[in-house]
Amino acid sequence: MISPTELQAAVQKAQPIFEKIQRFYQKLPSTACNCEKPGSCCAFLPEMTLMEALQWFQVMHQTPETERVKLLRKFVEFYLTNPIRHMGCPFLSKGHCGIYEFRTFACRAYGLWSDKMGQARTQESRDGKQILVEMWQRYGIDMKPDKIVAEMDYCDQVTCQSGANITDEQLMVILEEIYLLDQALADLQTKFENEYYSDFSYLMASLALGTKKAVLGKFAVIKQLCQEGTDSRLSNLLAQIKLDRIFPAD
Ligand code: SF4
Repeated sequence: MISPTELQAAVQKAQPIFEKIQRFYQKLPSTACNCEKPGSCCAFLPEMTLMEALQWFQVMHQTPETERVKLLRKFVEFYLTNPIRHMGCPFLSKGHCGIYEFRTFACRAYGLWSDKMGQARTQESRDGKQILVEMWQRYGIDMKPDKIVAEMDYCDQVTCQSGANITDEQLMVILEEIYLLDQALADLQTKFENEYYSDFSYLMASLALGTKKAVLGKFAVIKQLCQEGTDSRLSNLLAQIKLDRIFPAD
């Protein structure tokens, strides 16, 4: 598993790489969102690379402590309750992105993919969620279809402000370049992908509560939400979050 000390050290090593990621981000055209519900596409956490996750960790570390506690609580709650609670990305606040400068490639590219590619990626994500539902069923938890947070259709309301469109192939090249930056911390990348499924909320919950408590707690929380519709187990776990387990230097 990944320890807080390992993360802190990785953030230090990654400083020059963060600058490179920003340069890759600049290759994407700036966009305008024309829908009437800004932020509705932020229902889930975006896919991210290790370096992008480290950027988020750094932003959290630099956030004032009272806000950081709230943010950490949101990430743990997101982990414990998805896919049946409509929380949205923990950085989403009143329709605005709270980590705009460091939002991931996935966030930046959303709406830039062709309809065909965007719809295929949406379908892939829906299929992944269906597999999770079946997994929960094997553990005796029946998630009713109306309880599951639905993946919205791929948005066609995003336009390039510069007017210059970008192709799927060009987006894939940039994504590949960003992904390759993880090789500088290959061991940590393997852990992040294989042990945390590249899920930042799982990483935060695991650090805040301990991995065993986070995983077993999620099972108990989802079971109670599905079967009783109550959330006392969730409240109990959220009350056990310890900020100093993650940010001991503060
Ligand atoms: S990081 Fe920002 S843009 Fe990306 S899903 Fe979260 S709130 Fe939305």
